[in-house]
Amino acid sequence: MQQNIIRRFLFLFLILAMLVSLVILVVRCSSTSAERSMDPAMAEGSAVSDTEESSADSPKATPVPEGDPYDAVKNYWSEDQLTQAWGPDQVVEHLFFHPIIAYPKYAFYDSGASQSQRFGLDDWMVTVDEYNKILQSVYDKGYILVAMEDVWSEVTDETGTHMVRNTLMLPEGKKPLVISFDDVNYYPYMLEEGFTSKLVVGDDGEIWAECTDPYTGEVFLTKELDATPILDQFVYQHPDFSLNGAKAIFSLTGYEGILGYRTQIDSEIPAGTEKEYEANRQKEIEAVKPVIQRLKETGWTFGSHTWGHINLASTTTDLAWVQTDTQKWLNEVGSLVGPTQILFYPHGARPDGDDWHTTGPKFQYLHDQGFRIFASVGANSFSYIKQDISAVICDRLHPDGTTLRSGACIQEYSKFYDTYEVFDPVRPDLGNTWPAS
Ligand SMILES: [Zn+2]
Repeated sequence: MQQNIIRRFLFLFLILAMLVSLVILVVRCSSTSAERSMDPAMAEGSAVSDTEESSADSPKATPVPEGDPYDAVKNYWSEDQLTQAWGPDQVVEHLFFHPIIAYPKYAFYDSGASQSQRFGLDDWMVTVDEYNKILQSVYDKGYILVAMEDVWSEVTDETGTHMVRNTLMLPEGKKPLVISFDDVNYYPYMLEEGFTSKLVVGDDGEIWAECTDPYTGEVFLTKELDATPILDQFVYQHPDFSLNGAKAIFSLTGYEGILGYRTQIDSEIPAGTEKEYEANRQKEIEAVKPVIQRLKETGWTFGSHTWGHINLASTTTDLAWVQTDTQKWLNEVGSLVGPTQILFYPHGARPDGDDWHTTGPKFQYLHDQGFRIFASVGANSFSYIKQDISAVICDRLHPDGTTLRSGACIQEYSKFYDTYEVFDPVRPDLGNTWPAS
């Protein structure tokens, strides 16, 4: 047990260390599409009260009442209103978020985390306030959420089987936007640093986040402190923000389970506890099912972020490791969320070091397992259809501390929001490179 904890800790430390090292690479907002390959990685209050007593253990799967309120979102646009063709050469913007910081003051100042951990949160996350402002701003600027799965298709014609960028039919004046959420796993370390702890289905049949107030220890359900229910509420309030009911896509690992449920098979289960472990795991699996079901019913989709958050570019992560990891993801995560063609590279690290110019053994293997769309992180929402194999490579922009602090990013992100407007003053004073005013 002790060993397991130490191993975990080391693993998390490694991840954090890698994240920190990426900071040097990341903030390049003026890069052209040619120099992208190594880039790494409200609103108006909800209609429902933000707190509610929860029985922390088993979320109830209330059957969705007749007249699902989500229908109004799904059916908001009628087909004859979708008259604007968004062709293959027009960019589909893509923003991604890590879990958002529910209690920024706690995360940045009051938690017991080390300084480097707290600075890591500052680099890679946004606060609830920032997230709310960003959603409002992209909505105000005319973006409309589209499903990532609708952007590309695999076709077979006389030239063989390959991916194509689809023409999207949009309402006039709208611009397509994909949003993805990485690591929606509710890792234990985050729970100690001011984040929510799991997604549940509430008595109203909707998705809520379970949260523990880090100052009082009070456990409650909320729709206002977690990226998922916040977006749900936002779309209910602004149904024109969603094309055919689209919301966002979760990029899930598996090593700490999914969505706050410990559905994983740990690599080290202490001898003698296997039965108990498996019984508990099965309970978690049953508990997460209604959450997945409601998410899927309401426009959310799922992709892989690998099981172990592995670095696909690293030579230490050899092909055998990628194979084992992928099978674990398919067995433990894919079996619950369903099949996906989308892989989000952990750390933004490209398989074999370069997925653009070559198709290496890791990429080939991942393709064999059904992945077609490979998403990294970069300075713009570029995408590239590979010619030698049926696959798409695409980058996502990353609203977070690194880009918010960067003067070079202000321009690139201005199509989405005003950095000065969004930046949360609760962040620690780590400086910025904004132009002097
Ligand atoms: Zn990640």
